[in-house]
Amino acid sequence: KPTNGLLWTWSADNPALGGDLQNMGAITEATAKMLSCDTTITKIILNTDGVPLDVGLKERLFTPGQRKALLVRDRGCIKCGAHAGRCQGHHVRHWSEGGPTDLDNGCLLCSSCHDDVHHHGWDIIM
Ligand SMILES: [Zn+2]
Ligand SMILES: [Zn+2]
Repeated sequence: KPTNGLLWTWSADNPALGGDLQNMGAITEATAKMLSCDTTITKIILNTDGVPLDVGLKERLFTPGQRKALLVRDRGCIKCGAHAGRCQGHHVRHWSEGGPTDLDNGCLLCSSCHDDVHHHGWDIIM
């Protein structure tokens, strides 16, 4: 699991192009949100000279203690039951929309269910 986070760079000139994620190329806002549930993503706006103008998205990750508590409570993916080793922490209400990083707002999802939730409009009701 990456612990040092990912850089998501945007061109100030041409934001319509979308952001480029380090080593992954262009990604959508939904993908960025999914990854940032459980990974640090730093959004960086670059000017034409490649100089950062703005750095956004502060990390709100589950602490190791919270992660352990989620493992104990959920035991695996809450949607399909996949083993916890394949799971990521998910913010039911995304932190960028004001959702808190606490256990009531967190759950475990395997990567494919996590993808469904973010890209196909699944709602988690705790
Ligand atoms: Zn699953
Ligand atoms: Zn998520």
